[in-house]
Amino acid sequence: MARRAVVIGPAEYGPDSGIPSYSWISASARTYAEVLAGDDMWTSCRLVTQDELRTADGVMQAVQEVADQTEPDDVFMVVYVGHGAHWRDLPGPQVHFSVESSRRDSPWTWLSSWYLYRAMRKSEAKLKVLIADCCYSNELPKLGGSPDALGILDEGSCVLTATKNDWHYADAEGCPALPYPLSECTPFSGHLLNVLLRGTEDPNEQLTLGMVHDAVQAGMHRCVTSHDVPNMTLNGARERTRLFTNRMDPALRRRPPGLPVGTAEWVETLMRPQDVDLDLSNLLRDPRQTGKVVATLYEQRSDGGRAIAHEINKQANEQFAPREFARYWNQVERALRR
Ligand SMILES: [Zn+2]
Repeated sequence: MARRAVVIGPAEYGPDSGIPSYSWISASARTYAEVLAGDDMWTSCRLVTQDELRTADGVMQAVQEVADQTEPDDVFMVVYVGHGAHWRDLPGPQVHFSVESSRRDSPWTWLSSWYLYRAMRKSEAKLKVLIADCCYSNELPKLGGSPDALGILDEGSCVLTATKNDWHYADAEGCPALPYPLSECTPFSGHLLNVLLRGTEDPNEQLTLGMVHDAVQAGMHRCVTSHDVPNMTLNGARERTRLFTNRMDPALRRRPPGLPVGTAEWVETLMRPQDVDLDLSNLLRDPRQTGKVVATLYEQRSDGGRAIAHEINKQANEQFAPREFARYWNQVERALRR
């Protein structure tokens, strides 16, 4: 299994382009490339060159080059740091990414995210991840008007963005509370890179994007610089694929949790983000208990709870013999009838 990344960071724009040149963008892109190159879990990281950043063609050729290297068991990640725009009067409005020859009110000089999504969708990788640090990145999941433009309903993709809900603007100016050189990056990327460089208190040796998401969000919440919180969206499944090395000293991490007892403890443990990788086999040993947990998760009516309930239900369907399944289903059915 290979993990391959492309990092795109167009930072320099023409004096008449109407688009500000930000050193925070290039510093972020460079640092992503360094951090990924320094993580043994990553097979390759392609930093799009200054020359290629000039045009949409240059950027897409670099993306395609890496997409073509991916195989079915791989992870393909694209990191974009730059300016984002969204013209609602274009047919099928898409978020557009700037390239270094873009001009402010000339949509045709920008890279439509549609092309990037297309290249990612067609890549063979089993997991595709887009990290987008730009304005309007919150609009990305609506790409093409279809929820599965990037297979977003699949477990095989994930879009992590710097902006959330109705908030379109991502800050560019670095966060002074972060250590150098992360203070030279954009606030979102600086905080994200800080988590990749320092790790988290999670007991696991390797981090999923969900764990990184939670740690970045907590870090930005706690930060003495006020950030537009929560400022970060993770779309699609909270996938279980381990993506990054947890660089925190094991002595400083939390101890792995003991096995939960009873429905309430199981539900609480399952809902805790750091435990998404919890081995369900212990729960599935008791069909009745499994049914109660699934019923409670359904009743909570949260997306996160339902996603976990679906996963457990899937495993129950696969593993339980008819008699066990009946005991399980008896508990679940009551919740569904309410
Ligand atoms: Zn900060």
